[in-house]
Amino acid sequence: MNQSESMISPGPTPAAIASAVAAKGVNHIGIAVRSLDAQRAFYEGVLGARFESVEEVRSQKVRVAFYALGPIDNPVRLELLEPTSPESPIAQFIEKRGEGLHHVAYTVTDIAGRLTALHQAGVRLIDEYPRAGAHGSLIAFLHPKASNGVLTELCEPRRNANGHAA
Ligand code: ZN
Repeated sequence: MNQSESMISPGPTPAAIASAVAAKGVNHIGIAVRSLDAQRAFYEGVLGARFESVEEVRSQKVRVAFYALGPIDNPVRLELLEPTSPESPIAQFIEKRGEGLHHVAYTVTDIAGRLTALHQAGVRLIDEYPRAGAHGSLIAFLHPKASNGVLTELCEPRRNANGHAA
């Protein structure tokens, strides 16, 4: 720890963080993989998860496959992330730590407002502003040091014409 780090204030209280994020639930669990194709046998064949879609998220240099488990109307989702370039953050993650659990994403409303509140509360962020995620969602990552080593994503699902999450 260098001198500037040791002088950082204790940080926000748990209550301040809870009110800043106000997570509505777990949106998905992100898993870093070398190859989406190589994972199908496990997620479909072994776990019995339902394959939903594959999409490329260019901002992150990844291809993303979604699998769903459980009730059709309220499933648990897994997001498998395959790097499309060695510069992808996912490629760098796999290089350092191997394939495996990458992040947990929480559903929020008003993601831009949440990020402002977190920033004001002194929570370290990777993204101070929301960016485009899969399925037209808006996403942002907290810094892993702000969440005790678990990379944490906030996710605001795209709304359909009725104002419901798509
Ligand atoms: Zn994610």
